Amino acid sequence: MPPDKPDATYLCQRCGNCCRWPGDVIVTEPEIKAIANHLKLDATEFIQRFTRLSANRQHLSLTESENGACIFLEGKNTCKIQPVKPEQCRGFPNRWRFDGWREICEAIEIESQPQD
Ligand code: SF4
Ligand code: SF4
Repeated sequence: MPPDKPDATYLCQRCGNCCRWPGDVIVTEPEIKAIANHLKLDATEFIQRFTRLSANRQHLSLTESENGACIFLEGKNTCKIQPVKPEQCRGFPNRWRFDGWREICEAIEIESQPQD
């Protein structure tokens, strides 16, 4: 795998691997409202059915399927809540990264444009 370059910008290749990566997918209160609305659920029902406490018990996280993937991953790489997916999902890998991310993420580095 290519090395992690902290200042580089990456273009997602929609491999879906990050949606199968185990761990928390944090959802904020506004995100909960937006996702619940998208699913035509009230926020309480959404929280009960699709969230759990995060590992540090400070937040709510989306739950996982039995195989450990995000509960909203369909097939290889389809997000069932794409228009309202959480900021954590939108921000990876350009706004945040985790150790070892290059081993699973197929995003390609975007060449920076030469300056005039
Ligand atoms: S909410 Fe969508 S983009 Fe985020 S981890 Fe789940 S399936 Fe992937
Ligand atoms: S692992 Fe990387 S390339 Fe694959 S879907 Fe996630 S951000 Fe995109």
